[in-house]
Order: sequence, then C-alpha cells, then structure tokens
Amino acid sequence: MKKTIIRGGLETLYFSGLHHLLRPLLGGVGAILTLHHVRPPRSGAFQPNRLLEVTPQFFERLLRQLTRADIDVVSLDEMHRRFIAGDFKRRFVCLTFDDGYKDIKTYAYPLLKRHNMPFALFVATSFPDRLGELWWLALEAVIAQNKRIALVVDGEDRFFDCGSLSEKRALYDAVYGYLRSMKTEEELRRVVRDLCAYTRVDLAAFCRDLCMDWQELGEIAADPLCTIGAHTVNHKILMKLPDEAAVRAEMDMSRSVIDAALGRRPQHLAYPIGDPTSAGRREFRIAAELGFKTAVTTRPGVLFREHRDHLTALPRISVNGEYQQQRYLKVLMSGAATAMWNGFRRVNAA
Ligand SMILES: [Zn+2]
Repeated sequence: MKKTIIRGGLETLYFSGLHHLLRPLLGGVGAILTLHHVRPPRSGAFQPNRLLEVTPQFFERLLRQLTRADIDVVSLDEMHRRFIAGDFKRRFVCLTFDDGYKDIKTYAYPLLKRHNMPFALFVATSFPDRLGELWWLALEAVIAQNKRIALVVDGEDRFFDCGSLSEKRALYDAVYGYLRSMKTEEELRRVVRDLCAYTRVDLAAFCRDLCMDWQELGEIAADPLCTIGAHTVNHKILMKLPDEAAVRAEMDMSRSVIDAALGRRPQHLAYPIGDPTSAGRREFRIAAELGFKTAVTTRPGVLFREHRDHLTALPRISVNGEYQQQRYLKVLMSGAATAMWNGFRRVNAA
C-alpha cells in the first residue's frame, strides 16, 4: 500500500515539475542514502526482498550522478562535523550500506574506490560471527520452495497454500506482517526457526553465504574511505525488547566486538529495521547516552540543520530496487518526495 502511494506521489511530483519549485525550500542540507545489496539481478519472479537490492549498473549510474551534481559525498564523521560547526555551505550526501553483505565488497566497493567516495558499513556483529538469523530471507526461501506451509496461529495449526506466484507473494506479505506484529523478537525468531526446521531450510546458511566474515571486513575496513558503524549484535527490533538494559547491551556490545575484531571503535550506529516501529525515543536517547556521534533510522527524509539537535534520530533515503529509475532518485534527493511523506514536518524524531 505504502509503496503504491510513494510511487504515485513520485510520478505526480516528477511530471508536474513540482519538485523544482519545492527544492530551495525543502531540499535540506544533505541526505544519507541507505543500500543493502549491490549485485546482478537474480532470475525468478518471487523476490519479495528485491527492494533491498540494486544492480551494479544502477549503482554506478548513481555514483556518476553524484559526481556530476554539485554535492559533496562525505563520511559520517564529516557529516557530524558539519552539523556541529554549522557548516552548511555545500550540500552533502553520505553513502551507507546496512548488514555487511559480501556483494558490497564484490560489486560496490571497486566502484566506490574508483570514484574515491567515502562510505559506511553498518555491521551487526552476529553476522560475521556466523550466529545471525536473516529471518526475512529464510522466510522468502521457505515460501519459494514449498507449495503449502503450516503455521501455528493463535495456538492452532493452520495450513496456507503457496503454489502459485500470487499466493507466494500474498503469503509472504501476510506472514511478514504477522511476524512483525509479534510482541517479542523471541517469538518471531521461534516461528521462523520452526518453519525452517520442518521445511529443511538452513537458516544459518544465509549468514554464512551472504555476509562478510571478519577477515573480509578487516580488508575493507583498512581503506580510509570506509567507516565501520555499529548495527547491534543480533539485529533485533529494539523496540520489541522490554528491557532497557537489553537495548543498551545490544548497542554497546556490538561496538566493543567491532573494536576487538577490527581495532576500530564505531562512532555511528544504525538501528536494525529502523522504521518507527523498530526505533523510537527510548532508542534515540540510549544511543546518545552511549556517546554515538550519530545514529540513523530508515525513516525517509533529507537532513535539515535542525537535525543537529536529533543526531541519534537521523532519517535516510532508501535506494530501493523497486524504483531503479534515475528520475526517481533525482526527485528523492531533491527532498520533495520525502517532505511530502513527512507531511512537511522537517524533523520527525518522536
Ligand atoms: Zn540491517
């Protein structure tokens, strides 16, 4: 639903030319872009997580566009400096990659290096430790590989057909929503573990096959262009943790583990999932108390000078595989689309 609205909104903005009119007012001082995977397209029509990936060709066009635009591509430290110093003479963009996938090293990193562009990787430490559960990908595999699955819903065994493409898509959305609505992360993980166990999907394999290990992270982290940021230990939805101490431990321990493994103490944090149901006031406060210079959400938006007072609740713009058209990104970076999304509130940190 939301997707349709954005797409509709963007088309309207683009074709009406409204974003040009709004630009000076709403363009902001800069933007942080979010990416997950950069890799060649996979075949197969059922790819509910495709919105998390862009092709290397698209990524290179994005970098060329940034090079041509009158905009600085800066590190998170430099962004922080500009906020503190009030240095907004030039608009800036930060490039951030969540989760630390191997394809970033294979496909994105050589392009970043060629264009000499700084970037940040937000690493959940259980991923290189090979203990991570990439449950959203496991769920995709379970539904892709089966014609029918069983789920316990409200204490009862229920069966769901997923033989056809439309059934698979509908079931993925329904189960994803059901999982996200669960009270605790433990319940969510238990349901996915059970699903994987009885459909013989290897839950641990996603982490092992897709995420960089410490050796690979160490190689990329040695490049001064690279900032390693924290992304918690277990990639849990922090707002589902009832206990404040647990939230604090997830953030703080991930920083210590990265420091021990790579010899660098992260100064920046990305909240897992990062939407308003995953990170809110409590998380923003704890990140600030722990001394992170900045922390980023996935709430859509560009940056305004007012974000100086909300540096642990920064919005980002997702570079989304669903909208691989240059014109979409141009509109997104103009700030017009996300300002409309935010109802023209410049700071959304509640
Ligand atoms: Zn993540």
